[in-house]
Amino acid sequence: MLESLRRIVQDVNSAPSLQASLDIMVSSVRAAMGTQVCSVYLLDDKNSRYVLMATEGLNSEAIGHVSLGVSEGLVGQVGLREEPLNLDDASAHPKFHYLPETGEERYNSFLGVPIMHRRKILGVLVVQQRDKRKFDESEEAFLVTVSAQLSGVVAHARAVGALDTLRGKKPGTVGVFNGVVGSQGVGIGRAYVVYPPAQLASIPDRSCENTEEEIALLQEAVTAVRQSIIELDRKMINTLMPEERALFEVYLRMLDDHGLVGEIVERIVEGNWAQGALRMVIEEHVQAFQSMEDAYLRERMADVRDLGLRVLAQLQKKDAIKPFELKDHTILVGDDISTSVLVEQPLDKIAGIATVQGSSNAHMAIVARALGIPAVVGLSELSVTSLDETELIVDGYQGRLYVNPSPQLKARYKDIIRDEQQFIAGLEAYKDRPARTIDGHEIQIMVNTGLMVDVARSRDRGAEGVGLYRSEIPFMMRERFPSEEEQRAIYRFQLESFAPRPVTMRTLDIGGDKDLPYFPIEEENPALGWRGIRVTLDHPEIFMVQLRAMLKASCGLHNLRILFPMISSVVEIEEALHLLHRAVMEVEEELNIHLDKPLVGIMLEVPAAVIQVADMAQLVDFVSVGSNDLTQYILAVDRNNPRVADIYSAYHPAVLRTMNHIVKDVHAVGRKVSVCGEMAGDPGTAMLLMAMGYDTLSMSSSNLLRIKKLACTMSMQRAKALLERVLMVDSAAVIRSLVEYELEEAGLISLIKPLGQSLDSNS
Ligand code: PEP
Ligand code: MG
Repeated sequence: MLESLRRIVQDVNSAPSLQASLDIMVSSVRAAMGTQVCSVYLLDDKNSRYVLMATEGLNSEAIGHVSLGVSEGLVGQVGLREEPLNLDDASAHPKFHYLPETGEERYNSFLGVPIMHRRKILGVLVVQQRDKRKFDESEEAFLVTVSAQLSGVVAHARAVGALDTLRGKKPGTVGVFNGVVGSQGVGIGRAYVVYPPAQLASIPDRSCENTEEEIALLQEAVTAVRQSIIELDRKMINTLMPEERALFEVYLRMLDDHGLVGEIVERIVEGNWAQGALRMVIEEHVQAFQSMEDAYLRERMADVRDLGLRVLAQLQKKDAIKPFELKDHTILVGDDISTSVLVEQPLDKIAGIATVQGSSNAHMAIVARALGIPAVVGLSELSVTSLDETELIVDGYQGRLYVNPSPQLKARYKDIIRDEQQFIAGLEAYKDRPARTIDGHEIQIMVNTGLMVDVARSRDRGAEGVGLYRSEIPFMMRERFPSEEEQRAIYRFQLESFAPRPVTMRTLDIGGDKDLPYFPIEEENPALGWRGIRVTLDHPEIFMVQLRAMLKASCGLHNLRILFPMISSVVEIEEALHLLHRAVMEVEEELNIHLDKPLVGIMLEVPAAVIQVADMAQLVDFVSVGSNDLTQYILAVDRNNPRVADIYSAYHPAVLRTMNHIVKDVHAVGRKVSVCGEMAGDPGTAMLLMAMGYDTLSMSSSNLLRIKKLACTMSMQRAKALLERVLMVDSAAVIRSLVEYELEEAGLISLIKPLGQSLDSNS
């Protein structure tokens, strides 16, 4: 059973279209279960009907023509109850609805299971048989397992099918994909697909400008692969038996002009670039081998894949040499886009970002917000390979991506971009005002930085200093660790730009979702793994260089503060302080100067540190709450996982009550406390944090003016009354509504919904 299941899932997974997936699904399930009929009905959301999309056993002419209402027939029953229905005599069921076009009258027994994806019903998978018999438990369990395994494929394949139609027959039709807001704003432009190297499945189709050149690249790559196979064969002469070495001969034949290469060339002539053409041909062959019964022949599938990867690796070597230029108004699209890939791009060309993976608290999304680039992430049903050059709208307010939008929709969104610019211009008035409430309470507003561009953007918007400088960002833009002198120059620029205002430099915080291309950390469970201070304490040679560079950069400026990330024990603080003390002595000795000891703080990101905060705070000068990670660890929700993105909420009562305890505990030992996670820049949560008594809020530069307006418009008395009510509530959704209602009442709702309800007309 497990073997059949594995094969069904694999075959369906690699099918080239929605229809092919469904056809494979019904024929293989029918064969595996030995039933007479297997059919799939998919829900047509627009018409609220289940449409027969594929069948083995019923009349094939009925496919695409026969449908049932959502509460009609046995299929409707399965959909309504969202659970299996197993009947020995289908016609005796009160909901039985006979469909004459299908010829199903001959079949008495019926087993239907829902196809569910993220709590939504997508369709119903049905098997039928002539004999009047109930399907046994193991059959029912098998069908439920198949359906659960395939639901993601169906969701994805539906999207692929929709895209195929969009790109083929009906240009101009609007495709809409729902994801999660990564960074607010609207971006209109053309897709450029970013893909990881040496992974065939993610290579996009891309039109080629010069067919001859593309064919030449392919030939060169193939020649190199052939050469390496010949060399391998020679090397193995004394190691492998002649029959084992015969495989190399097979490879070489596959790679001659009459084999795969000829087919790839045909695809290039049809207009695809070499890598896309290679992917297409390899996928077709893999699929043909997959459906073969003969185990030996199926093994050849692995050879074809292997060859494909070898040729791809050669093509990509060439590709890396070609300088690559983004056009204006590019929307970066990818399965996943890391921060390091993002920051390497010419940022002024990027109008938006859309990714299949990720969630709003992933590091890349945070950086996109800092840069003011609209982003939608977690678009789990989007297939990116066919999107290159396609026109897109990224709606970073609603978490939507529009593919091939209509001219009307584009015009509508252009208006929105204009309104948005006006809204931001309207906030300019707050940039030089202190963040003082109407009843006289002042709060310090600082900025989170990392890139050079952040400096200019935040100075323009009246930041009172840097609450969090993410020092890992410049590390991500290199091919090796930056030297002490390189780091000193980067830090000096930050410190000088803000002096005399304070700049809080966080020591290298890598691991988790923050990777350095030249220092990969591969772990099963990276969020609970080697990250933040754990890495730097294990690598004093990296840590000391960074600390020395920070200290040298601060000479004569007196505005450096140092912040240690991901602290989870007192020992870590003691060790980090010890290394800092050593670095101070070394720099003093080297430069023969006296250094002011910088103020030192810890980040509160781990529940253990929250519980021990009073002990820890006394060892340092200040505390800064990293609410992004803290929320992740309190709620046990991976901040990068789109599947659980809707459970990750800063409005969760457990998060808010924890934040409230932290201020009290830190103030009780006489230290200042700030928040530098995303909560600080969200007007709703920022209002609650001010009421709790946080001394400083530090946020991305794109939120500075919003939060200043909030602070200058509200009264602390009102915010405190709201906080009191909120702390009694046990549900995140209710808390969010209470906060939104309060903002509405205070005339500040535009801070979180800058375009009011105007977007809803597009939905
Ligand atoms: C945080 O965790 O809240 C934080 C500010 O750090 P980062 O988002 O860089 O992990
Ligand atoms: Mg963090």
